Amino acid sequence: MSEKKSIPLERKPGEAYIGLVLNEPSRRRHKWKGGVANRMIILGAGTFVKLQHGAEDILGDEASAVFYESGIEAGKDAVVTMFEELDIRGQELLDWMIGITDSSGIGFFKPLEYRIEEDCSGYIRIKQSFIAEVYQSWRGKTDHPVCHFIGGFLAGCIEGIFNVIVSCEETKCEAMGDEYCEFRVEPA
Ligand SMILES: [Zn+2]
Repeated sequence: MSEKKSIPLERKPGEAYIGLVLNEPSRRRHKWKGGVANRMIILGAGTFVKLQHGAEDILGDEASAVFYESGIEAGKDAVVTMFEELDIRGQELLDWMIGITDSSGIGFFKPLEYRIEEDCSGYIRIKQSFIAEVYQSWRGKTDHPVCHFIGGFLAGCIEGIFNVIVSCEETKCEAMGDEYCEFRVEPA
């Protein structure tokens, strides 16, 4: 994994705003009312999973597509930001993106092992998915994978970096009692 480059957060004391400090915030980022580019929020993992439960209660299995698609957009958006901020591309950028998913960055999961071939097929294994962990603690072991947003996020990162549309299917999930969550990546 490449050496991690960090992007600091900026906070506006006395306001609600927390933002990423970007070198080129004006190029394509919103300039928020509080003067912070690319506003961020800190959201409880439980709040996210409650949103997912709510969507599942209303939409059933279709809810997975909603979270997967929103993950794709989040992944692609993150890659565009990093393209502009860090002078790295390709596999090195993928290493960086996956490297910031743990406690050193966005806290989504702990990357375990991954391999993405030149044709963008491969696999990604992770542990401590925030979705699987909360989901299982509330509803017990599931009979299906639940980390749709993370699968979409990974697909969006790969699509954004390599310009290849991929599917990213979760084939193992900690919420199902598996040792880790595993995503199989295939060009779509
Ligand atoms: Zn999972």
